[in-house]
Amino acid sequence: MSFLDRTARTWLLTELLSGMAVTLRYFFTPKVTINYPFEKNPLSPRFRGEHALRRYPNGEERCIACKLCEAVCPAQAITIEAEPRADGSRRTTRYDIDMTKCIYCGFCQEACPVDAIVEGPNFEFAAETRAELMYDKAKLLSNGDRWETELAARLNADAPYR
Ligand code: SF4
Ligand code: SF4
Repeated sequence: MSFLDRTARTWLLTELLSGMAVTLRYFFTPKVTINYPFEKNPLSPRFRGEHALRRYPNGEERCIACKLCEAVCPAQAITIEAEPRADGSRRTTRYDIDMTKCIYCGFCQEACPVDAIVEGPNFEFAAETRAELMYDKAKLLSNGDRWETELAARLNADAPYR
């Protein structure tokens, strides 16, 4: 670019004006940003968020303590202890997930034969202390109770592809 061209561009403010033209053009186009947390993008039914333990409609826990999820977990984040109940059914006495170890691979959900442990749509579970991310059975069951409608809908939506 010659000296004259550079001088003309400087004095005529062509670069400034072309920049403002770009701004003006995008001012009237639909916005690609959203006002999070008041607006949220749609999530895939396969989104792998916070874990939950589900129940059957009669309130009984789905988990049969087969420990497949514990065995498949590559991060060894799941700890299960189990013993038979008085009626002979096998249920967990302890079901812990160390969420600081979890890599959200979804293997636990895939391994579960009764759709008990699932990863739900909730991604807003940041905590201030490490201890808050040590989930026990009560926490996981309460997550399941809280999110059951969404969890069931997600599993139904993904069922044809599993
Ligand atoms: S999502 Fe993966 S890493 Fe996390 S608990 Fe399940 S199997 Fe383990
Ligand atoms: S959550 Fe599912 S895979 Fe894990 S122990 Fe219970 S029934 Fe087995």
